[in-house]
Amino acid sequence: MIKLESYLSGTWQTGQGDPQVLVDPATEMPLAECASDGIDRGAAVAYAREVGGPALRAMTFAERAAALKALSGAIHEHREALIELSIQNAGSTRGDAKFDLDGATGTLAAYASFGKRLGDRPFLTDGEGQQLGRTPRFWGEHVLVPRPGVAVHINAFNFPGWGMAEKMACSLLAGMPVIEKPGTPTALIAYRIAQIVVESGVLPEGAFQFLAGSAGDLLDHLGPMDVVAFTGGSKTAALIRGHENLVRHNVRVNIEADSLNSSVLGPDVDTDSELYGEFLANVMLDMTQKAGQKCTAVRRILVPKDMVESVVADLTADLERQKQGSPGDKDTRVGTLTSSGQLRDVRAGIESLAENGHVRCGGADSVGDAGYGIRPTLIEAIDADADTFHELEVFGPVASVLPYTGEASEAVRLVNRGGGGLVAAVYSDDADWTTEVTLGIAPWHGRVWIGSSRVKGQSTPPGLVLPQSVHGGPGRAGGGEELGALRGLSLYMQRTAVQGFQGLVQKRFGAPTADSED
Ligand code: NAP
Repeated sequence: MIKLESYLSGTWQTGQGDPQVLVDPATEMPLAECASDGIDRGAAVAYAREVGGPALRAMTFAERAAALKALSGAIHEHREALIELSIQNAGSTRGDAKFDLDGATGTLAAYASFGKRLGDRPFLTDGEGQQLGRTPRFWGEHVLVPRPGVAVHINAFNFPGWGMAEKMACSLLAGMPVIEKPGTPTALIAYRIAQIVVESGVLPEGAFQFLAGSAGDLLDHLGPMDVVAFTGGSKTAALIRGHENLVRHNVRVNIEADSLNSSVLGPDVDTDSELYGEFLANVMLDMTQKAGQKCTAVRRILVPKDMVESVVADLTADLERQKQGSPGDKDTRVGTLTSSGQLRDVRAGIESLAENGHVRCGGADSVGDAGYGIRPTLIEAIDADADTFHELEVFGPVASVLPYTGEASEAVRLVNRGGGGLVAAVYSDDADWTTEVTLGIAPWHGRVWIGSSRVKGQSTPPGLVLPQSVHGGPGRAGGGEELGALRGLSLYMQRTAVQGFQGLVQKRFGAPTADSED
């Protein structure tokens, strides 16, 4: 059996103690084991600060961007083998595996492209400079400088490739070394990617470290210049946010947590229209892709009362057509859940939702004799205001149809009952209705996706996180923000106001001009 190793302080090392066993979620057969007692996490933190950070910051933005491009290429070269591994270790279909892996290489490549235009200076200028005194002689600029610490990235199990790559891309381009800690159930995929990163020799020593297994005492070693970027459930997020050492040193923490994402069908959408077809296709994709284990997947589907019957009939027919079976088979459309714990939680979640609604397809029974498969499950709410629909994240192929009046104000009220989300999708060709809903839900969301017949066939689906747009959300979604092109670098940089003689401050720290170097 494969024993997962960590790459820390310049060497591959195996932990001691009782190992956690990683299984194939389609067969429950053991694949690998991971033990992490006895690993010196404090030494890894020091190594990043003392070895990786200085080497990374000695490179220009353009050189770091070139390294990201090379990493993207190195991982892509192993695409086929990584797809196979993802099918085995995550219960992913081929399509799901590509979604994660191409998302990883695509995000690294996107940041390579954002970074190559940033020039040779070791900092970035933020916005325009301003006169501060009676005359322009006393001048102010804002700069972003890399933090001389380590970025600890704690990732969820559901995106072992993309989750690690999107955090790495921003951090490394900003000039901060990383310690990557994947979610353990699917850590075999992240481990293989870590091996590729190390073998590629693209990054300076100490810029990339990898911790397989428990975070252990890692957070106890962090200080004021370090960053923690966490993705996972809200209970773990609360533990990290309240971690005594992180609080004491005001360690910068970014949280990406749960979200009860919604899709709102506008009352103007005709069930014969292409826009309605797109709404159905996107809801179905969200519910089935990665077996619904996607932080941006729709959980609440708001449908005008007079359209509920059609929507439920159409979605049920589509969902029941999706083939389930061995995730590696080319025609399998719905993979399995990733662990026995996930299966237990999803079943319990379906039962809770069903207390306030009718199960229109699927249900809490698992699929087959072995493995963690569950059928796509659609629930029609009896009362759209019942708390469960707005409070319980069922992290599987499960969503609920919530009937509403069709009024924009009612849509806003129900969507915002989710307490803060990553994304909400709105489908309508009525510009006034769409604007009212968008402005009403925007403060509660990191992203609002608007589907209309004007962008039909051109838009990416709402569940897809793009490097160009911010990802994160307020309230329940964690209050964090990642990506958003160069916005994603600011988590890893200190914004500092520089005030002084214009001749120095503007010239040395202001936005570069043709004569900046004179
Ligand atoms: P989780 O149980 O919260 O675990 C997330 C990560 O935290 C894992 O690496 C886990 O390690 C680690 N961890 C657990 N306890 C910890 C502690 N006390 N200190 C430090 N690290 C700790 O979440 P999950 O089950 O992996 O992921 C599912 C959840 O993630 C869902 O709720 C989903 O909505 C959310 N998610 C959110 C986003 C987003 O971008 N907002 C993206 C993906 C997933 P071990 O695996 O070793 O326990």
